[in-house]
Amino acid sequence: MKTIDGSMLEGGGQILRYSAALSAITGTPVAVEKVRAKRSKPGLQPQHLTGLQLVERICRGELQGGAVGSANISLRPGAAVCGRYSADTRTAGSCTLMVQQIPIRRSFSELELLGGTDADMAPPAGYLADVLAPLLRRLYGDLMEGLDVQIVRRGFYPRGGGILTARVPSLPRGTSLPPLDLTTRGNITQVTIKSFAAGRVPATVPQRLAASAEAVIRRTLRGLGPAGRSAPILVEAVLEPPDRAFGDGCGVLIIADTDTGCRLGASAKGERGVPAEQIGERAAEELAEALESGTCVDQWMQDQLIIWMALASGVSRMRCCEPSLHTRTAMVVAETLLPGVKFTLHRPAPARGAARR
Ligand code: ATP
Repeated sequence: MKTIDGSMLEGGGQILRYSAALSAITGTPVAVEKVRAKRSKPGLQPQHLTGLQLVERICRGELQGGAVGSANISLRPGAAVCGRYSADTRTAGSCTLMVQQIPIRRSFSELELLGGTDADMAPPAGYLADVLAPLLRRLYGDLMEGLDVQIVRRGFYPRGGGILTARVPSLPRGTSLPPLDLTTRGNITQVTIKSFAAGRVPATVPQRLAASAEAVIRRTLRGLGPAGRSAPILVEAVLEPPDRAFGDGCGVLIIADTDTGCRLGASAKGERGVPAEQIGERAAEELAEALESGTCVDQWMQDQLIIWMALASGVSRMRCCEPSLHTRTAMVVAETLLPGVKFTLHRPAPARGAARR
């Protein structure tokens, strides 16, 4: 059994998710100690427990320490079984994060995940459906053709109640993922702004979110010169009907595509007392920063692609901004659980002109 220190680096729930996923994929039993030690409320929270129990079911494994508050867990995986699975956080805790730990290489699964779809500190469901899943399909072609994430119903704090479905294709035994190459950013071909509001949020909010985001994005694209100025901006502002949302909430997701196959995303969700215009600008400024930096991935995709890079054969490369703590944590978990995997950071040398000055 391999042991992972749950208090290292980021010291949060991501260590659990990647440890469980890699344990199920490789068949290696894993123990995580000091679970989420760096969080104000350490130990397993309901959404982490629900996620671990889902992996336990998919891989016909044995989970020990599976209780809310638990500081130590272990998972002895069996053989993953394809099928339909459902998991419910029963809180507003994010259901999107459970997708991060599906043992993708050994099962084909149809998942129904219930909980918060637009929660703090987690990918909004739109990010999974419109940024992560399309990017993986683009990067892996036929291998990920069936990968699909759908938002059936949005669910917000404090009640959750959202529903997400995910279709995760299997890879035949012995198939390995091709190396990933995300090193050329290229020109922006299109920017899509998707805003929404639900429940008792005023009907004008989706338009206001989108318009404020659009103004920032338009300026940013002009500033990028030939790499951005001719990119069209598409806007989709939606007032969710009552059967498509549980509770009150709003948000905006902005997606940029490039002619080299990159897809970058940024989002912001509504906050009580904060004008929609500020929320729209917040998301747009996040994307603007990523576009202006010339990286091939946004700040969130960075850590979410680590597990894919680690599972690929050969050398995978990704051009990104300074690695986040989440990214460095994911690297350590992958290096510990996958023999032979090694991540190396290459920082660009200072420009010659700058060095001379
Ligand atoms: P904890 O409760 O211990 O903080 P957690 O289970 O909520 O843990 P983290 O360890 O903080 O999760 O990991 C959060 C994950 O969510 C990371 O993979 C991060 O990239 C992703 N994430 C957070 N915010 C966003 C966002 N706005 N867009 C896309 N992904 C996001």
